[in-house]
Amino acid sequence: MENLKKEIIKFGKKVVGEGLCTSFFGNISVRTNNKILITATGTMLDELDDSKIIVCDLNEDKCENASSELIVHKNIYLKNDNIKAILHTHSFYSVLMASLEEELSFDEYEFGEIIGEIKIVEGKSGSMKLAENIGKVVTSTNIVVVRNHGVFGWGNNLAECFIRVSALEFYSKMKFYKKLISQL
Ligand SMILES: [Zn+2]
Repeated sequence: MENLKKEIIKFGKKVVGEGLCTSFFGNISVRTNNKILITATGTMLDELDDSKIIVCDLNEDKCENASSELIVHKNIYLKNDNIKAILHTHSFYSVLMASLEEELSFDEYEFGEIIGEIKIVEGKSGSMKLAENIGKVVTSTNIVVVRNHGVFGWGNNLAECFIRVSALEFYSKMKFYKKLISQL
């Protein structure tokens, strides 16, 4: 449990440091057996400590002080036992490109395939509707962009999530500038 908390603290610093999220937004969780460790509501991701990581029961509805996106995290874990970690960021270019394009694909870029298929979903932050919409695509993808909001990436560990989320942001930024330059 302590090692998992350390991982969350480490990746909290990384996502803010890499510009994938402003400090106040976003959340991080990991799953171990029937428990979820998730960042507390209203925390700064680059200032986490043990007290700001809440341990919740995967099968219980309520969990005091947990992130407001807990319902979305839970629904992802419940759909697939192999998912052990989730990273939610407000990656600027990923969200921007998802608001400009009907679909996002980076297959034509060198290494673009490491992200895999990307789904764009709709739903209000922390809502059951958003949890359901992401739940529908959990088994067919590892990353979604919630339109006009942020990104959820999942995987076997936080490093895997981080690679996917940061790669999506890198290619989104590249695509945005290519689009912009092509219109000059
Ligand atoms: Zn968010």
